[in-house]
Amino acid sequence: MTIDIRKVTVLGTGVLGSQIAFQTAFSGFEVTAYDINDKALDAARERFVKLSEIYKTQVAGGGDGKAEKAAAGITLRSDLEQAVADADLVIEAVPEVLSIKQDTYTKLSQFAPERTIFATNSSTLLPSDMAEFTGRPDRFLALHFANQVWQFNTAEVMGTPETDPKVYQAVVDFASAIGMVPIELHKEKAGYVLNSLLVPLLNAGMSLSAGGYAEPEAVDKTWRIATGAPLGPFQILDVIGLTTPYNILANSTEPGAAQLAKWLKDNYIDKGKLGISSGEGFYKYSA
Ligand code: NAD
Repeated sequence: MTIDIRKVTVLGTGVLGSQIAFQTAFSGFEVTAYDINDKALDAARERFVKLSEIYKTQVAGGGDGKAEKAAAGITLRSDLEQAVADADLVIEAVPEVLSIKQDTYTKLSQFAPERTIFATNSSTLLPSDMAEFTGRPDRFLALHFANQVWQFNTAEVMGTPETDPKVYQAVVDFASAIGMVPIELHKEKAGYVLNSLLVPLLNAGMSLSAGGYAEPEAVDKTWRIATGAPLGPFQILDVIGLTTPYNILANSTEPGAAQLAKWLKDNYIDKGKLGISSGEGFYKYSA
């Protein structure tokens, strides 16, 4: 029997959840967005208005009222039971805190119909860390989006040993249907494909400059010219914002991570240089 996904509920309407909900609605699916209270839902409404402005100007087909229609079509709920009552797929984008995720899946397992597939957008946790709380480990996996889904449209699909291959395939097909490029992982890997490649590159770049070997501009220039990549590691760090890499380094037990965290903090973060969002990081940006 083929698995039909039409009705999608997104849990958490923060940075990523709002983007996933919007992209899914824009692609013609019936979308419900859940958050914990009315205040969070007010913030979600504002996020959807901002996203419709972005889609109008930056996404093919976003004009002619299609972006506004997507925003207006999303049902907002603060009652979890109602939000998932008829969902084919629930995409979870709640805070990256294991206890919050586990608690969310415990409740979801009671409220969602048996057919509902659950997918986590977690960046650093493995689906195996949550599977037992879902009550349906065969219908659970990770579907990991990148920030700014309309532009950086990878969707990494990663199951556990218990995920049903038909469920996995249905989620791969869903990712394509919402305009993502599905990236299939055959086994669980912390960092998926993207961050397994990106984090060592960014750390290597920072080690070169923190160690006094080369300036950030020289590191970036080398990477761009010698590999043809459009951005060097410090340009990428400015796009991400320096706070997230700092938090990852400060919490890491890898050799050298604490020194790199201190270098980032003393030279950039404490001086308000947080990346593009603050107007300056490793480079200066005009408004
Ligand atoms: P965020 O803090 O912007 O948003 C989290 C949302 O969840 C908020 O709206 C909050 O009100 C809501 N929330 C809090 N408690 C909740 C609960 N118990 N149930 C439901 N909702 C609750 O976080 P984010 O950056 O959107 O990250 C969400 C998930 O997406 C995380 O797992 C993160 O690892 C992942 N992710 C983030 C990015 C990124 O660049 N921000 C990229 C890929 C994946």
